[in-house]
Amino acid sequence: MPKSNSFQPGKHFLQIPGPTNVPDRVLRAMDYPTIDHRGPEFAEIAKRVLDKIKLIFKTSEPVIIYPGSGTGAWEAAIVNTLNEGDKVLMFETGEFSTKWWDIAEKLKLKSDFVKGDWRTGADPEIVEKKLKEDTNKEIKAVFVVHNETSTGVASRIGEIRKAIDNANHPALFMVDTISSLASIDYKHEEWKVDVTVGGSQKGLLLPPGLSFNAISSKALEAYKNSKLPKSYWDWKPMLDNNKNGFFPYTPATNLFYGLDEAINMLLEEGLENVFARHKRHAEATRLAVKAWGLEILCKNPEEYSNSLTAVMMPDGHDADALRKVILDNYNMSLGMGLNKVKGKVFRIGHLGDFNDLMLSGTLAGVEMGLAKAGVPFKKGGILAALDYLSK
Ligand SMILES: *Cc1c(COP(=O)(O)O)cnc(C)c1O
Repeated sequence: MPKSNSFQPGKHFLQIPGPTNVPDRVLRAMDYPTIDHRGPEFAEIAKRVLDKIKLIFKTSEPVIIYPGSGTGAWEAAIVNTLNEGDKVLMFETGEFSTKWWDIAEKLKLKSDFVKGDWRTGADPEIVEKKLKEDTNKEIKAVFVVHNETSTGVASRIGEIRKAIDNANHPALFMVDTISSLASIDYKHEEWKVDVTVGGSQKGLLLPPGLSFNAISSKALEAYKNSKLPKSYWDWKPMLDNNKNGFFPYTPATNLFYGLDEAINMLLEEGLENVFARHKRHAEATRLAVKAWGLEILCKNPEEYSNSLTAVMMPDGHDADALRKVILDNYNMSLGMGLNKVKGKVFRIGHLGDFNDLMLSGTLAGVEMGLAKAGVPFKKGGILAALDYLSK
């Protein structure tokens, strides 16, 4: 039997929910000499990219691009807008929201962290109730992870915006879109989000290494009164330099070439078509899972993620053992269960540069893996998906 560390022919299937498959066009675009990031050629590229990226966030307001992982952009959202001791409202939707909360704790915010079951999203009704109860307007910000990558649950950001408005509350609205941006429809400006956090390595078709803060004018006002210590993540030097296409420190030059091309690809396909494609692939995946007789971790169909599907294992069967069988035999990586759901779920990523046949191959790998690993299931998941895709 082949080992995971030995040679395997053909293309590896990287079906974790990020990093995702980087398209050849993006790889080719990055395969270009690294140039002077303080010279005129780079300034032209940076200005173009800083402008175009706004279309992806659906905003006309500035977007800051950091050389850094999404975790850094989480921290940036906090240190640029808030103060020590500020009250904030956060939701435990899964591992990623818990990690953002952990940063808030370390930065000495006072968080009301609403416990969750890792199967549902942030509840707009709770947002409205908590904000209405806060008559002294002490809550300074509401934090939500749009697509909780650990569970495959998408919170309803538009409805949460309405809940904040219904409560007539001035709290800032902070949203993590790292695994939803360019996969699931997202409207920074229309939903009056104050800081949107993004990352390069999920739906944005790039390798890891860039992260984003899309900011509102209200967030810029909050910046003026925010005294949390900040240096690397400080918005002001970024915004000042960005005006001329420059950065306060070395940007990730080659990732900018890639981002330029990735945005071109998304716009060529059309953002709304990109969202429809993700929705279709997610639906086909869910049909397969149901036909296998397995359960989807996400409880509410209205919160199903279009980026990934987390599948629960039958009792007594270990998801990581299944993932190993699939990696060793079919050269495919699936996402592991994180933290509270470790070993209990595996995650199928269906986001980014992806098409019908890639999805068919992915589902075939899962179905063969279930059989090979001796997991009880009903055959026919692939057929259910193919029927749907060929309708
Ligand atoms: C991947 C991910 C992160 C973490 O991003 P890093 O680049 O690993 O720091 C945060 N939030 C969500 C929703 C994610 O999917």
